[in-house]
Amino acid sequence: MRVLVIGSGGREHALVWALQRAPSCEEVWCAPGNGGIDCSVDIDIDDFEAVTDFCAIEAVDLVVVGPEAPLVAGLVDDLEGSGTAAFGPSQAAAQLEGSKAFTKALCDEMNIPTAAYAHFSDEASALAYLDAHSAPIVVKADGLAAGKGVTVAQTRDEARAAVTACFEGSLGAAGASVVIEECLVGEEASLFALCDGERAVLFGSAQDHKAVGEGDTGPNTGGMGAYAPAPVMSDAMTARAMAEIVQPAVDGMAARGTPFKGVLFAGLMITDDGPKLIEFNTRFGDPECQVLMMRFAGDLAEVLMACSNGDVSGVTMPWNEDPVMSVVMATQGYPGGYAKGSSITLPEQSNGDVMVFHAGTARDDDGTLRAIGGRVLNVTARGSTLQEARDKAYATVDAIDWPEGFCRRDIGWRAL
Ligand code: ATP
Repeated sequence: MRVLVIGSGGREHALVWALQRAPSCEEVWCAPGNGGIDCSVDIDIDDFEAVTDFCAIEAVDLVVVGPEAPLVAGLVDDLEGSGTAAFGPSQAAAQLEGSKAFTKALCDEMNIPTAAYAHFSDEASALAYLDAHSAPIVVKADGLAAGKGVTVAQTRDEARAAVTACFEGSLGAAGASVVIEECLVGEEASLFALCDGERAVLFGSAQDHKAVGEGDTGPNTGGMGAYAPAPVMSDAMTARAMAEIVQPAVDGMAARGTPFKGVLFAGLMITDDGPKLIEFNTRFGDPECQVLMMRFAGDLAEVLMACSNGDVSGVTMPWNEDPVMSVVMATQGYPGGYAKGSSITLPEQSNGDVMVFHAGTARDDDGTLRAIGGRVLNVTARGSTLQEARDKAYATVDAIDWPEGFCRRDIGWRAL
């Protein structure tokens, strides 16, 4: 199989790494890729015609779309329309991530457990609703806002300010309407399922760390680290979440005539009443993907192609049982402003137990590696215990020569 991966982050580096190990995969490219991906091709992924042209010229069998933006913009529809198989949902099915109001309506329809909510298209009604409800309460812009659209408000004033900011346009089109919902209490976990339009097959669980600072303090980021499996996701809890949340969503999308194919990432709150849905994402998490890929021991190309072809039932999904942890190294200043261009020297990579996946990196012509983004490296390690995985990851972090970088030192604290 000839496979093109779309994206440029650590998630895509991990996908490329797993695909390059897949026996059924003959060639892999990544557009636009990054400084650590040895098969990067310089294609503008917002230019869908450029992507479909590349697929035609190179006889690509399967395109794996990493990030949400091209899914929501309809890249999979264009690819399938031009005869290339793609792993990822259609534009209609990507609404599960692209619109929180859409997902809440599906939850109502399919009885999926989630926070009680209301949806508003005007500021006055949203503020009136807040007057009748007490804090803590959660305000969410309906559309994609790169993690900046959610306010877990501890006071009514904070919630009112979030509503007003949305309707004043601080988040652009994403804030044209808002969902206000009940604040759930519990431990968060991420569950991943591969879907073929009809079936959903478990692809593991993980926990991530959104806040930039140790002890989960400071502003939110794209994710500062992750580990798998998530201890809170026992077999029984996982089975409940698959049966009560994931499969009903897949059934509901099929019944609407917009079947969901691709990876369904359920952000869950494990409450005293069981798992509740916080949100769906329609792609792998980053850095959760990195830990999942290091645990997956099957043929990734075969599995992703089976989802795309509409029958994932026959594929085998062997797993390496050992826990895996990924520590994100970011440029100082992230998630605020940061400087670009500092140079990084990596240690020799010793074996398959530790992988340094690249995110915001680029190489000079002479091979010098430079940081060009906020999140830059994902040091990912496997161990016989989570503690061992953590020790290996931080030993590698300490061997990386990059004074301008930083990481959280407490990844995995909840599980350890
Ligand atoms: P964006 O849409 O801006 O990209 P996002 O998709 O990351 O943001 P969510 O995952 O829905 O947004 O919410 C972000 C975080 O806010 C969650 O990980 C969780 O910690 C918290 N959160 C969201 N909804 C609730 C809720 N109902 N109760 C408690 N916490 C919540």
